[in-house]
Amino acid sequence: MAQALKTIEEQSKIKCCCVTCGTANDELSHHYKEGVIKIIHCKQCQNPVDPYIELDDLLVFIDFVLLKLRAHRHVLFNIDKIKYNHIIKLSCAFILANAYVKWFHLKNDQFQSIINHDHHIFFALEYGFYLKLIESFLEYTIRFGFILFIAILQCGQKWTKEKSILLFRALVLSSIGQLFVLPLLIWSPDQRDYYAVLICFIFTILCHAQALNASQLLSPLISFISSTIAIVLSKLFILFFSTNYFLNNV
Ligand SMILES: [Zn+2]
Repeated sequence: MAQALKTIEEQSKIKCCCVTCGTANDELSHHYKEGVIKIIHCKQCQNPVDPYIELDDLLVFIDFVLLKLRAHRHVLFNIDKIKYNHIIKLSCAFILANAYVKWFHLKNDQFQSIINHDHHIFFALEYGFYLKLIESFLEYTIRFGFILFIAILQCGQKWTKEKSILLFRALVLSSIGQLFVLPLLIWSPDQRDYYAVLICFIFTILCHAQALNASQLLSPLISFISSTIAIVLSKLFILFFSTNYFLNNV
């Protein structure tokens, strides 16, 4: 019994991941007296467990955006300062940003009717924003829900609450491509830049796939396929939903 408890305790202490091979390690660095710090090497591949701890956050961000698997493992497992409440706040920011982009285009589409004073919801444009907020929330819920469904199907009985949290963390952090659409509103406010939106769309698919691969919850192929289907499915659902309900009411 004591041995079993000790094993569980040891396993719970393993929280660092080798960014090279993905093996769990006890720590990233060891602090000795008089300020001496030793970088720990992986017990599996003998490389430094996480060379990113010596680099600036900006360099980590660039590697993350370049979809390097090592950077995704570092962000997902080895950064203690990204707490669970930060992930929740970040997900809210992405939903708000997505809603704002949708609302901005809706406002542009209705601009001429506003000028002609024949637009009956001119004073209720904020109402349109709240509708787009619901749309955006549904879009993320469908996307994340589908990938969660696939992950649970693959893991079966081995699925745990910790894996759900890890999956949510991976998906939220890899939704960073959503923010890249915002500068497009400044550069081309009067028309939709479909090529740039398509690039952001493809980047989000690849970023989700890489994050899921780094989390080791899904295989690389299933990560890519499930990310693609989830995003296309959520976009189609929102297109159908807004066409049949929201825009008719607005
Ligand atoms: Zn390793």
